[in-house]
This record gives sequence, C-alpha cells and structure tokens, in this order.
Amino acid sequence: MIPSRRAVAAFLAVVGCLSASSAGRVQAAPGIVAIKNVSVFDVTGARMLPGRTVVIEGELIKAVGAAADVPVGATVLDGSGKFLIPGFIDAHVHLVHLADRTHVPGDEFLPMFLAAGVTSVRSTGDAVAGEQRIARFAEEHPETCSRVFMCSPLVDGDPPFHKDVGKGLTKAEEVAPFVEEMKRAGVTTLKMYVGCTREIGRRVIEEGHRQGLVTTGHLGLYAAQDAVADGIDCLEHVWSVLDYSLARGETRVTCDLKNPRAVQLVSAIKEHHVAVDPTLVVHRNMLLLADQPEFNQHPDNAKAPERMREYWQRALQERAFTPETLAERRKELRKYQDVVAELYRAGITLLAGTDSPEPFVCPGFSLHQELELLVESGLPPAAALKCATLNNARIVRAESRLGSVEPGKVADLVLLERNPLEDIRSTRSVAKVIRGGRVLEPGEILGAVPRK
Ligand SMILES: [Zn+2]
Repeated sequence: MIPSRRAVAAFLAVVGCLSASSAGRVQAAPGIVAIKNVSVFDVTGARMLPGRTVVIEGELIKAVGAAADVPVGATVLDGSGKFLIPGFIDAHVHLVHLADRTHVPGDEFLPMFLAAGVTSVRSTGDAVAGEQRIARFAEEHPETCSRVFMCSPLVDGDPPFHKDVGKGLTKAEEVAPFVEEMKRAGVTTLKMYVGCTREIGRRVIEEGHRQGLVTTGHLGLYAAQDAVADGIDCLEHVWSVLDYSLARGETRVTCDLKNPRAVQLVSAIKEHHVAVDPTLVVHRNMLLLADQPEFNQHPDNAKAPERMREYWQRALQERAFTPETLAERRKELRKYQDVVAELYRAGITLLAGTDSPEPFVCPGFSLHQELELLVESGLPPAAALKCATLNNARIVRAESRLGSVEPGKVADLVLLERNPLEDIRSTRSVAKVIRGGRVLEPGEILGAVPRK
C-alpha cells in the first residue's frame, strides 16, 4: 500500500520534530571549549600529564598545555580529578553484514559506539552501498554517531562464503577494476577472506597500495606467510597468526609458540611492519558464551536494542558445547592471549577490534572488554590504550587527524572519571564524549538507540 501524501507530510512533521528536539539535547555546533586542570593521556609517552588545560576551537584541538590561555567566551569544563584520552576507534566492526541479521541497521547502533567513547569505527567487510548510506547518516549526525571508515566487501573465492557481503574474485584481470571501484566508493580498507587465493591476494595488495588503500585479511587459502611476504598491511583475528604457526600434529590448544614455524612467522610480521588485530572478545565469546553466564549475561548486553538481543539469543541456542570441554576451551582462549603477548613482546603493532555486532559483542561497550582482554594477555594498560587509539588511527591512515590529544588534531576525546592506567576497567567511567568538538553526555547519546 502506498501511503497518502497527507500521511507522508504528517510523518515528516513528526520526524522533523524529533530531530529538532534531539538536536536541542546536545550541543548543536562546536564552539570554544576549555577543559581545565585535567590529566591528559600522552599516547606515545605512555603516561598521564597532570594539570593540563586543553582548548578546543570548533572541531580541532587548539592547545594543550600546563598554562594554556583560556580564550574569552570559552565554555569552561573543570577537569579536576579527571582524565582526558583520545576517542577510541574500534578497528573491526560490521555495519551492514550481521546488522541485517540482527535487524538493527548501523545507523541505529552507531550511537552505542559513541556513548561508549568509540568516536570512530573501522568497517572490516560490508556491502558498500549500505555502508555509504550509514556513513552519510553518521556524517550528518555527529551528535549521535561515530565516524565511519568504510571497507570493501570480503574478497573471496567464487561463490563467496558470505553471499550477502562477499565478492568472488578468481581472475587476476578483475582485480584492478574492482579496486578502482572501491577507491571511487570511498573505502579505506580492502579485506581478503578465507577463499581468496595468493594469486588474487597479491594483486589486491598491489592494486590497493597503488590506490592508497589499506589491505587486510581474515585468511584461509592465502597463507599468512605468503600474505606477509606480499606486503599485506594487517591480519584480522588472532587465528590469522595462530593457524599458520602450527607445527605438524599441533592444534590451537597445543601449539608451541616457540616452534620454528611460529617464531619465523612472528619475525616476518615484525620485519614487514604488519599490524595484527586480535579481536579477542569475539573469540572468547565463541568459546565460552554458550555456558558461561558472565559473558552471555554481561551487563553490557542490556544496552543493545531488543531485536539485537533476540538475534544473539537465537545464535546462542545454536552453539552446543558440553561441560567436559570447558577446560579445553579455556586453554584455547589462553593460547590466543599467549599469541597476543608474543606479538606484543616482539614489538608488533597491535590493534583493538571487536567484530561487533557478532553475538553478544555489544557495539561500543565490547571495546572495553577487548581492552580488558589485551591487558589480561600481558599488555600494560597504556599499551592497550594505544592499540585502541593511535594504532587504530594509523591503520585507517588518519593519524594526522585522530588518535592522540595534540594541537591540530580533531577533538575526538573521552573524559574519564578514573585513571585507566591504574585499572583498564576505568575506560568505562565515561563522563563526557567529545566528538569533533561537540561535548556530549553518554546517557543522552544512548537515548538515540531504539529500545525495540
Ligand atoms: Zn569480522
């Protein structure tokens, strides 16, 4: 049935009203803001700098200093006893793929990211037309949405593993036009998937780099050793390291990370400056969610719309694990964390990504869980924070604008009540989220998330 013109006009009036009232709740446009006497996280120095004044003008950080002048007319925020850190970036999300299954479109769950202090998200595989619409919506609604860095669909064999979001590429000559199309579409990242061969993968990397795009992979047929030698920029999921480290007869649980294959792979990753995005939180969920209430009833889950929670619950029922396997599953998670520790010790760039909205990987809030898992793996809190800020900014080639609290950068910031260097769980103590100079209340941003 086609609605009448009158019904459409009435609907638009209501929508207009709603957006006007929601705009009234938040700061409509950035002005001049000074945060006085705040401790500022120095990402590269891995420390807090106490007693700083941070001046924001419009979208940008104008000054950071012990004695920075507060400009006339500035809105002054008292930062005493608080901690200012760069806005988080989630390096692994899906805004269209998965969102379809959760029946919650990306524009509806982007506010969850922002309310959790995640001011940017990096997609790692989506249908481009849908992604463009969501990115445009986010651009138009900075008061409720994170910034979106788009990704290609998953470059795969034919037929692709994920029909909705895969792109089967089997002929080398198809690669250049595909990469050009992705560049025109505005993606930052090209992602290769399990059925992508070395022949195609190598071309994706070459053509991607020619176009200034970042290449990453959740690998399968294309071995990590080959992809690293071919110049891939990033490996998604800890599996993309562990599965190619196994000596004959070893499993993910029994793998000796000192075996020659594992040692050589880690040193090749280091030598070729490849970043690794472990996504521990989704792997933990895959292993422990089914029978561990601390995860399937995690308080973060309640923040998601009912439709998303219903999908998660259905997905949970499909996972059958017996209690006898629990010890083995815990060992497997520990091995993933040992891999992360090994990579960190080797000086490899680690990212912080979640794979939200996979089951119970709650948009935004799961990044805090990922940080906790990184610290549990052996990273100092400052290093984990660097993964989720500067390292993630670098992997979307936005480090000149994002990822640290420095003059000239975009004012994407989080003001915390407690010091995350003392306890990483303090990243959850979000007092304000600042997105492009707009000072926002987390509770009000969450108000933009539908409950149903
Ligand atoms: Zn993913």
